[in-house]
Amino acid sequence: MEFFPAPLEKLVEQFARLPGIGGKSAQRLAFHVLGLPEDEAAEFAEAILNAKRNVTCCPACQNFTAGGLCPICASPKRDASTICVVADPRDVAAIERSREYNGHYHVLHGVISPMNHVGPDDLSIKSLVERVAKGDVTEVIMATNPDTEGEATAMYISRLLRPMEVKVTRLAYGVPVGSQLEYADEVTLSRALEGRQEI
Ligand SMILES: [Zn+2]
Repeated sequence: MEFFPAPLEKLVEQFARLPGIGGKSAQRLAFHVLGLPEDEAAEFAEAILNAKRNVTCCPACQNFTAGGLCPICASPKRDASTICVVADPRDVAAIERSREYNGHYHVLHGVISPMNHVGPDDLSIKSLVERVAKGDVTEVIMATNPDTEGEATAMYISRLLRPMEVKVTRLAYGVPVGSQLEYADEVTLSRALEGRQEI
């Protein structure tokens, strides 16, 4: 039941595949793109391909970067003895906005979730253990979300790190259980970092 010419229908379909975009929104976005001047449409398409081709994972912390070490791992001003473990690159951005943290990060790219068939081997946990095993790290802060999967992931990793001589701490969330770090405001995150406790 195509009501639009095939090329437009195809564009609607692409938008409809995006997370959180329903049929109506997909149509609205496709019509918007269709109304763009050609150079702006080209810029939009190019941005998608450019991000896809040039964003890589930092070989040390696994955060998104544009090739090589990320700016945080490369910076001599950052304290390499502390690693803050987060599920997602967006969490790094949230903690950076709080300006409360000067250590390094480790991005897991997900959390352990049996329901979604995500196990420890699907996440960058091995590379975290290898980093800590090198011996220069004194504290690992578990900053996964305070929901069931985030807690389970934090506990799993803390058990792996326990035999090593490293302090493992957990953020003291002043935010309700089940909420997401990504959406916590800067003050809440600062307090969560300040009040972190050993687990
Ligand atoms: Zn890095």
